[in-house]
Amino acid sequence: MNAIDSLLNDNIKLPSPPAIAVRILDSVKKDDSSFKELSDIISTDPALTTKILRIANSSLYAVPSKVDNIQKALSLIGLTALKNIALSFVMAGSLKKETDGGFDFDLFWKSAITSAVGAELIAKKINLRSDDTFVTALLQDIGVLILHFCKPDEYAKVLDEKRNSNDSVYKIEKRILGFDHSQLGFEILKKWGLPESIYKPISYHYEDTDIPDEFSKQVDVLTVSNIVSAAYHGVGSTVKIQEIKNILSEKYDLSDEQVDEYIDEVAEKSIDLLSDFEIDPGDMKPYSQILLEANEELGKLNLSYEQLVVEYKQAKEEAEKLAQNLSVANDKLREMVIRDGLTGLYNHRHFQDVMDKELSAAERYGKRLSIILFDIDHFKKVNDTYGHPSGDIVLKQVSALLSDMVRTCDVVARYGGEEFAAILPETDNSGAVVLAERMRSSVEKLDIVANDITIKITISLGVTTFIPKVSATNKADIIDAADKALYQSKETGRNKISVMNSTRSA
Ligand code: GH3
Ligand code: MG
Ligand code: MG
Repeated sequence: MNAIDSLLNDNIKLPSPPAIAVRILDSVKKDDSSFKELSDIISTDPALTTKILRIANSSLYAVPSKVDNIQKALSLIGLTALKNIALSFVMAGSLKKETDGGFDFDLFWKSAITSAVGAELIAKKINLRSDDTFVTALLQDIGVLILHFCKPDEYAKVLDEKRNSNDSVYKIEKRILGFDHSQLGFEILKKWGLPESIYKPISYHYEDTDIPDEFSKQVDVLTVSNIVSAAYHGVGSTVKIQEIKNILSEKYDLSDEQVDEYIDEVAEKSIDLLSDFEIDPGDMKPYSQILLEANEELGKLNLSYEQLVVEYKQAKEEAEKLAQNLSVANDKLREMVIRDGLTGLYNHRHFQDVMDKELSAAERYGKRLSIILFDIDHFKKVNDTYGHPSGDIVLKQVSALLSDMVRTCDVVARYGGEEFAAILPETDNSGAVVLAERMRSSVEKLDIVANDITIKITISLGVTTFIPKVSATNKADIIDAADKALYQSKETGRNKISVMNSTRSA
């Protein structure tokens, strides 16, 4: 006994066709009285009647007038077609309920119905007149369902192997079970008493050889229907669609446009029909719509890429602007650190830093370096007479005047309250005295207007010059010399210049 016979003769409970299916099958085997009998059987099930009428009225059958009862359906679409539609519903409905386990039944029936619609439509396109096309395609994989039902573990093994193998599912089934699901489908449908025109093409479907002429067209239709269903419910749609185009253009001389139209129509009609089988079509949609949406997504993707580039450029520009602002702010901050807030002159600390730098440079290169210290005469009186804010204005104006008089390499700093200092690199004593004198006379001549009052002031100055190898090398000694000179100017009458030089200690 071969594997399939032992399965069929086994004690394993195989699903039996539902009672109503048996009655439908029995009735059509009889003579012409079956017309009435078939419509009576169907009418006992109101839900089935409704479904059949919906299909009879659908574009699948394209009947000229509205079909509103089973009798009329019979006369318009014929006994066999009506029987087949009824059988489809009854079988799908009952086999859906009877089986369970880790199997996607909705997907199975969705694929089966898409195959059935695909077969019916292609049969129409190539003028193959057969009332059995729909039900044959619908039940072509019934063997899979039976195997899930009675050999769930072995069949799980088949599917596991399929996931890791390039072999066809039939080959794997034969290896593991000793037969494939198309052979089983053939045996089961035969056993259930379905007509030969249905079960025969199913068994030939997967074997290229030895197909009798009477079934070859039906087998071709099944092949195409199977691929179109796989294109909609499986992976690798693009390849499968191309496969369909190749077959249909080779075998039936259909153009690409006709094939496209066919493929779309399969989805449209399947979606319509699925609700009659109480199966959710999910996101099934015509292939052209899938392509369109894919292109739109691609367009969006490109658009967002372009958008991304624009945004990136903007962000980069903003970052650059920010960096520029930051560097300006940093420059300002750096200036603030070395400047005096009131006068804008360099501050005391910066004066000290520059002194260090210039003194060592002068020493290193053997250059002279002069310092002028100056102090506003009787400034306390200015404050007392005109008020502190006017005193500030005086400080600012004197600062502006003096900083304008020096070279860019010179540094004028606010040394203390109303005391200032100028560092004059590479300037000898006579040059420093000339500048000091110009400063003194400019301040003397300056009319300072503060709060509509003109204020006149003078300054006293002290000059010292660093002479390499002669002067003290110590910064404090050099500043001290300038300070002493300034003190001398104050002591000897103010508004004047004094010179005092440091000496190198032995
Ligand atoms: P001398 O001729 O001897 O230098 O007399 P003086 O009054 O200028 O000197 P003194 O050191 O007695 O007074 C300095 C004054 O300068 C006292 C102080 O209030 C004022 N002063 C110092 N810093 C500021 C300032 O930022 N703004 C104003 N308005 N006044 C200041
Ligand atoms: Mg003073
Ligand atoms: Mg002073």
